[in-house]
Amino acid sequence: MTRSQLHRPRAVYRPFRFNAPRRDHHRPERTAEQVKAATDWQSFFTAELGELRGHGSWRSVRCCFHDDRHPSLRVNVKEGRYWCPVCEAHGDGIGFLMQRNGLNFADALKALEGYQ
Ligand SMILES: [Zn+2]
Repeated sequence: MTRSQLHRPRAVYRPFRFNAPRRDHHRPERTAEQVKAATDWQSFFTAELGELRGHGSWRSVRCCFHDDRHPSLRVNVKEGRYWCPVCEAHGDGIGFLMQRNGLNFADALKALEGYQ
């Protein structure tokens, strides 16, 4: 072995996938949390249910999940949640669209993105 061969850097073996791009074709562009964070819940619930009553984060509106005569559905316009003490319907904005329109999670997420 000559002196120059001693100091030649050896080829580094790298597995085939070492520099391959990450395979994220199946990942949606935005996560559900990102979509929910970007949603204006007050306009969402007003568009879905009509005029909301009250001030603050929890508002009242007539429940669409049971035969409601006075506003008993409570909706949170800051966090996008809903809760009815009468029929016990509850969940987040995506759950609302799923329960009301019979959608699966992915379709409800798309519908929620349509509000933005
Ligand atoms: Zn109800």
